Amino acid sequence: MPLKALDIYKLLPKKNCKECGDPTCLTFAMKLAAGKADLDLCPYLDDKAKSVLGATTRPPIKLVKLGVGERSFSVGEEFVLYRHDKTFYHPPGIMFTVSDTQSDEEIAAVTARVKDETLTRVGAELKFNGTAIVNTTGTVEAYARAVAAVEKTAGLPEVLISDNPQALAAALVLCGSYRPLISAATPENYKQMCALAKQHGCRLVVREPTLEGLAKLTKDCAAEGVSNVVLDLASKSLGDYLSRSTAIRQLAITREVPDLGYPVYLDATAFEDQDAAIALGIVKYASVIVTSPLSQPSAKAALTLRQNIYTDPQKPIQMNPGLYRVGTPGKDAPVLMTVNFSLTYFTLQGYLESTRIPCFMLIVDTEGLSVLTSVAAGKLNESLVRDAIKKFGVENEVSHRKLIIPGYAAPLSGRIEEATSWKVLVGPRDAAEIGDFLVQEWKP
Ligand code: SF4
Repeated sequence: MPLKALDIYKLLPKKNCKECGDPTCLTFAMKLAAGKADLDLCPYLDDKAKSVLGATTRPPIKLVKLGVGERSFSVGEEFVLYRHDKTFYHPPGIMFTVSDTQSDEEIAAVTARVKDETLTRVGAELKFNGTAIVNTTGTVEAYARAVAAVEKTAGLPEVLISDNPQALAAALVLCGSYRPLISAATPENYKQMCALAKQHGCRLVVREPTLEGLAKLTKDCAAEGVSNVVLDLASKSLGDYLSRSTAIRQLAITREVPDLGYPVYLDATAFEDQDAAIALGIVKYASVIVTSPLSQPSAKAALTLRQNIYTDPQKPIQMNPGLYRVGTPGKDAPVLMTVNFSLTYFTLQGYLESTRIPCFMLIVDTEGLSVLTSVAAGKLNESLVRDAIKKFGVENEVSHRKLIIPGYAAPLSGRIEEATSWKVLVGPRDAAEIGDFLVQEWKP
């Protein structure tokens, strides 16, 4: 049962020191009661208070941060079963495996790929997140060498995967303050793994094949002082993963089993069809996905799917309003106005690039709505266009005063002319026809 704010307040240290980010202990207690804050934010809570407040006060799925610095990422803190109910907030980290059977050069090549490979899609730069270093040999020396090879090009989150606590201990010394995720604690070894996680400030994978077993194990780890954990369901098939990851999400967000309120870990290399496992993991609740390095088509598919699933369905993807250049436009170049719905922008930009006619794109702020919708909703209007021309200094960039507007904005042409004193040319409705339009109609 979730605790009430006043009950929680009684257990807080009441220093009102603001270190948790809240102005008073009472406001922090209210946030805890609403599941919108994490106990760890208060450094003064004693162990007794922590064990009483425990998993019932934090967000239904705990936020767990992996790595440090620019490429660190956070997972968890999700609230819904279906994306269309609200949105999914924290995309899964996708980690490429390297093994301690590989040479330093091979390991460096994978690490460099994770670091540098970028897919640019609808204005966003999509990257993989880190490396997972597998102790295939089972030996301490080979594992330490492999981890050292990754560390040379480090700066990325890491997963250390080994059944040998000595190998993990040797590797963790090399990881400095990068705080990797270590895999995996089981009912047999969890005390040893918790001690390592505590000593090095790591996050911990907990592995158990039953939900009851997982819930018990997270509780046992919390009692050892380790609550930054992710759940490995040790699934034998994709169907098994699907049914149990769904059950975990349901039990966690309803707070029926708070001890299952942690992000889920998926080792896609355990399945014959790795691409299918990654896709399933992205769609169905995996927060950390470990995979062998992907081919280019699979990499593109995984990054694209992740971007799509973790885009807020209630907010269209938007461009920043402004004046954008296609090629190197001069003073006589056409100026095409359109809306800041990303798909409109990138579709038009693609066709404009293929015309090889340098031009300006004036992007106005319709809050991400398409041309047709924004005209119908009154978001796209003459004052918006007039203000954008002024704000983005279009008059200083060109010597003419002609503005091409989208075909679907034709009803606004007269009002835009009046408000701006620019001559308005109504462009085609279909962006694919913009090349022919410019060739036939554009005269500065
Ligand atoms: Fe109160 Fe702890 Fe927050 Fe300080 S950090 S204001 S003691 S809840």
